[in-house]
Amino acid sequence: MKAIVNKDLCVGCGACTGCAPEVFSLGDDGLAQGSAFTADQKDAVEDARSTCPVEAISTED
Ligand code: SF4
Repeated sequence: MKAIVNKDLCVGCGACTGCAPEVFSLGDDGLAQGSAFTADQKDAVEDARSTCPVEAISTED
């Protein structure tokens, strides 16, 4: 599974990196980027997805 951040929506608040720091990071552009994640990280990714204030996070299998 992979977490995807829509950079057109992301405002760089960092909330996702707090929920799932192993999956999300802030890039040099100040916006978040997602990465591949494992089944045991799924709940943390879901927390990030639901916490994101601009609904910029999606996932794909
Ligand atoms: S929570 Fe959403 S808006 Fe905030 S940094 Fe993450 S993707 Fe961007």
